[in-house]
Amino acid sequence: MSESKLSEFDIIERYFKRPVTGVDIGIGDDAAVISPTPNMQLAVSTDTLVSGKHFFADTDPYKLGYKSLAVNLSDMAAMGAKPRWVTLSLTLSENLVESHPTWVSEFANGFLELAQTYQIALIGGDTTCGALNIGVQIIGEIEIMRCLRRDGAKPGDDIWVSGHLGGAALALKHLLQEIKLTQHEMDACLRALLTPTARVELGQRLVGLAHSAIDISDGLLADLGHILTSSKCAAVVTLEAVPCSTVMKQYMPSSLALECLLAGGDDYELCFTAPKKNRSEIERIAQLLQVPLVIIGEIKHGTGLSVIDTEGKAVTMVKKGYDHFAS
Ligand code: ADP
Ligand code: MG
Repeated sequence: MSESKLSEFDIIERYFKRPVTGVDIGIGDDAAVISPTPNMQLAVSTDTLVSGKHFFADTDPYKLGYKSLAVNLSDMAAMGAKPRWVTLSLTLSENLVESHPTWVSEFANGFLELAQTYQIALIGGDTTCGALNIGVQIIGEIEIMRCLRRDGAKPGDDIWVSGHLGGAALALKHLLQEIKLTQHEMDACLRALLTPTARVELGQRLVGLAHSAIDISDGLLADLGHILTSSKCAAVVTLEAVPCSTVMKQYMPSSLALECLLAGGDDYELCFTAPKKNRSEIERIAQLLQVPLVIIGEIKHGTGLSVIDTEGKAVTMVKKGYDHFAS
């Protein structure tokens, strides 16, 4: 960044350095120093958001800041971890900073307000110049070997999903002008796309109850598929049981709606499997947290994932999920 304008250090000082607790050395040194809670393990995850790939360059910066952290929180949720610390690698184009002088401050507000909600400390990062790119690393804590994983599903497990799926994908189809949502529909779907709620507390409460879990970032079929591969199991899902929002219901059962619901991605809901004996306890958690949780199918012996309708007929899908290197 040029001399006359804000330097990298001004940006960090002005927008990202906020008072934090639970940090021994925070922003301002060559590395942050943190002390994990005794007898806890660390869960570490990174997610990168690339302009033009994960978001439109003109996305509202506050919401982009919010989402950059939310998608990382979702990974913590999927592990049943308590998120505690985060670092941020921000690559900003000079053009963006010049044409939108409040961009960085709005981005920082979206990111840091969500961080504060979960009492997570931003402990460091990197700020460079180039094509807009946002890299976030998040660190959480789990009790020793008591986390949720992808490889624990067992035949006979119920398959559960939180919230409603497909809204974010519908919003994306609208923004790409493939469909036209009404303003009211758009508001609901845009909320799902831009400010998703990671199921952080749900994830932590499922430790000890769920056999496996994953967050749905690439679409239900793709992400449940990861559980099946890791767990060496098969699954049958009933299409009508997959939770859709009121907006999505209006588009069912078109192939576009099916694609958004089952393979759209960007949902940031949890998909988990649990033995049937835990049903009532899981339903109690749904009540307590006011998070919709429904059973969509069952884990089976063997391999493969089939989606059937209520009459037991196979539902065929062309696109199974989002893959950066395949699509
Ligand atoms: P170094 O040159 O030693 O890598 P930097 O100049 O990149 O250090 O960063 C200075 C300090 O500011 C470091 O503590 C770093 O972690 C922090 N930092 C840099 N960019 C960000 C950012 N976008 N958000 C939070 N902290 C940041
Ligand atoms: Mg650096």
